[in-house]
Amino acid sequence: MPDSRLTGRPKMPQRSVAERIRDFNEVPVGLPEWAAVDEARRCLQCKKPGCMKGCPVEIDIPGFIGLLAQGKFDAAVAKIKEKNSLPAICGRVCPQEEQCENVCVLGKKGQPIAVGYLERFLADYERDKGIGAPEIPTSNGRKVGIIGSGPSGLTCAGDLAKIGYRVTIFEALHAAGGVLVYGIPEFRLPKAIVAQEVNFVKSLGVDLEVSTVIGKTLTLEDLKDDGYEAFFIGSGAGLPHFMNLPGENLNGIYSANEFLTRSNLMKAFRFPQYDTPIKIGRKVAVIGGGNVAMDSARTALRLGAEEVCLIYRRTKKEMPARIEEAERAEEEGINCMILTNPVRFIGNDNKWLRGVECIQMELGEPDESGRRRPVPVPGSEFVIPVDTLVVAIGQGPNPLLLETLPDLQLNRRGYIVIDEETGATSIPGVFAGGDIVTGAATVISAMGAGKKAARSIDHYLLRK
Ligand SMILES: Cc1cc2nc3c(=O)[nH]c(=O)nc-3n(C[C@H](O)[C@H](O)[C@H](O)COP(=O)(O)OP(=O)(O)OC[C@H]3O[C@@H](n4cnc5c(N)ncnc54)[C@H](O)[C@@H]3O)c2cc1C
Repeated sequence: MPDSRLTGRPKMPQRSVAERIRDFNEVPVGLPEWAAVDEARRCLQCKKPGCMKGCPVEIDIPGFIGLLAQGKFDAAVAKIKEKNSLPAICGRVCPQEEQCENVCVLGKKGQPIAVGYLERFLADYERDKGIGAPEIPTSNGRKVGIIGSGPSGLTCAGDLAKIGYRVTIFEALHAAGGVLVYGIPEFRLPKAIVAQEVNFVKSLGVDLEVSTVIGKTLTLEDLKDDGYEAFFIGSGAGLPHFMNLPGENLNGIYSANEFLTRSNLMKAFRFPQYDTPIKIGRKVAVIGGGNVAMDSARTALRLGAEEVCLIYRRTKKEMPARIEEAERAEEEGINCMILTNPVRFIGNDNKWLRGVECIQMELGEPDESGRRRPVPVPGSEFVIPVDTLVVAIGQGPNPLLLETLPDLQLNRRGYIVIDEETGATSIPGVFAGGDIVTGAATVISAMGAGKKAARSIDHYLLRK
């Protein structure tokens, strides 16, 4: 293997800290054309490519990179879109470092190919040029209902539409995209890009009914009466978890779900143009160490907080957030208080938050997640003065739809039980995937589940 191929991975150009913390515009700006082509030329075009095994939506990674290396950008985009209708989203938020790039053979002795940066380059190239209308197959007339418009639902819908089904996505919120619109902030994933990829799925012939809560506005029985023959449930894990600590209902304490939804979906960051203000104090603390915590902390900073800290009970090594995003948060001045856990929240006479009492932690034996269990150090309590706090310690399944389906088998944590091979649930004709099955996971794993379910729905309906 020639040594020059081992290194030379480009760095993602990004806006300066001073500029970016004042607005919600995207932080990374994308590779220039010459850098993308150079990087594509570093690919070894392996005969048995490991990278493809790391991609839950089965993109022909060497195929699109080979075309990009030859300057055939249109063909490269088409190659990606054979398998993935959301490349601009995946190129921005997929944890490639744990997926395709993690199994790139170049990574064994050097630097893996920057697959995500290349995918983003091509998706942005296509957007700048204008996305052409895809070919729509002749409809087979059979109706499939998709509940939820997150990445799992969009993928399942797109794949079924491509083979001729009449697909309708039902979405509870007024905008489509799931976490991509209400959770992940503009500075990581611009909403115009989500809208553009949702529009692409619609252009495949998929109908979208927003502001429709299945289980309330309509039931699956209503949809069956209307001719729907199969369903995919991709309703996500949007129910916030709290810590159940004394003082948690004080004013100034938000769940990350509310905080981010107000900012991203209701556009609080454009107040007063959009009338959904978020009251932010001078000192903000965010509890958690995942992507949701990072997004909340960086949002608080951009909304005007003077100091923002993360409170995390393990060490940086165990943080589940994407490394790139944790580094950006640190660059922006977010102070990370590791091995620290809250024990109670302290308020003033008017019930406004004024501080959080924490305890120092140390790492003990590994727990069921394989990470070392954090253990409190007796007598190490201390108070951090804060006036706003965001709890970002995880989410659970939204029970709304599930409550109306008594025959649907759930596990003890309330997630849907499926057949791993097919995505089939305990109700014939009803399939499920994404966070509502796995618990909070990743965009690409949700998309992979949507793809698998689309295949199974096709098999199921062909036999019916
Ligand atoms: C703040 C945040 C940041 C994240 N960052 C990343 C990241 O950088 N990279 C990454 O890979 N992953 C990230 N994730 C995780 C990722 O976004 C999720 O794993 C993924 O979106 C799950 O997709 P899904 O389709 O299962 O569900 P969701 O995206 O949750 O979509 C579910 C949709 O179903 C709708 N719905 C629910 N119930 C009903 C009903 N009864 N009727 C109709 N509609 C309903 C909801 O309104 C929602 O729109 C992040 C998550 C959060 C919260």
